[in-house]
Parts: sequence; C-alpha cells; structure tokens
Amino acid sequence: MNCIRCGRKEKIERHHIKQRIYGGDDSDENLENRCQPCHKYEHTLRALTASLEYEKQRGQTDRIACYQHRIDVLTELNTPELIRERGTYLSYWTDRTTRYLPRRIPTKEEAEEQQRFDSLLAEAMANQWGNYLEGLKG
Ligand SMILES: [Zn+2]
Ligand SMILES: [Zn+2]
Repeated sequence: MNCIRCGRKEKIERHHIKQRIYGGDDSDENLENRCQPCHKYEHTLRALTASLEYEKQRGQTDRIACYQHRIDVLTELNTPELIRERGTYLSYWTDRTTRYLPRRIPTKEEAEEQQRFDSLLAEAMANQWGNYLEGLKG
C-alpha cells in the first residue's frame, strides 16, 4: 500500500474522502491511503479551507488574506517531494508570518446590533442613576 499523494509506504492510514460526520461511509470508493504526514496535511488543509470560506462569506478581507497565506505556507512546506525527503509533516506555524490573525471586522448587522445594545445599556444606566437620585430626595 502506497500513499496516493507521495507514494511512500510507511505509516499508511485510511482517509475518508467524504467525512463520516457528513455521511461518508467505509466503502473503498470513499477511502484512500495516505501516509501519516500527507493525512495530517489533508486535514489541516481542509480546516484552513473551511475557515477561509467562512471569512469569505462574511467579507473579512484581512482574515481571508491570512487564511490564504496559511494555506500557501502549509502547501509549500508539505509538497509530496518534501514529505518523501523528510518523512514528516510540518505545521504552517513553523513559519512565523502565519501567526498573526487580524481581528474580525463586525458586519453591518453586527455593528448595528452592538449600537442598539450600547444605547439600551446607556438608557438603563441613566434610569438607574435617576432612580438613585430620586431615592436620595425621598
Ligand atoms: Zn504521503
Ligand atoms: Zn482523514
């Protein structure tokens, strides 16, 4: 059994193309052999791609760039050639430039919601202050 990605024979694992939580089964069509490093690479790539898609839906430009950068670095560090040479997986974290994740920019709806909450809070505090002053008079 060889890894479908790099061709190595060591530490072969079975990877589900469609994950079990999404209804993927254990049939041969849904399984592929991957060496442990290529398997790790695949799952990290999936997680980063999911984060990238999430940020794209929310229009988080800076975070989109950040996840794209992590994917690029991950892929560069774990080409089939490098995995054959090293025999190990390398996390994108080993490249310090991937560590900075910009803050999320609130969406228009979130900003409006926050504003509403702030004004309700300010109103409640003003009322409480008014009641307190009333209390002093009484
Ligand atoms: Zn491999
Ligand atoms: Zn897997």
